[in-house]
Amino acid sequence: MEDKDYTNDDLIGKCLKCGMVIASIKGKKKKRFCSDRCRWDWWNNHIKEEKLKSRLETNKQNHIVSK
Ligand SMILES: [Zn+2]
Repeated sequence: MEDKDYTNDDLIGKCLKCGMVIASIKGKKKKRFCSDRCRWDWWNNHIKEEKLKSRLETNKQNHIVSK
């Protein structure tokens, strides 16, 4: 016999930044990061990439460099 509630994958996640296993609380929003620090690091990296992309796109479209 298996305990299905215990093996509920939905409540087990991994930190997107460091890969640490996170157990979320049932009924609450699933966590994606083990800590605020990992969340900030992850977002900082992604924001940099997005900014770089959008800057390149803007330069292509407008040829304007504002300082
Ligand atoms: Zn982490």
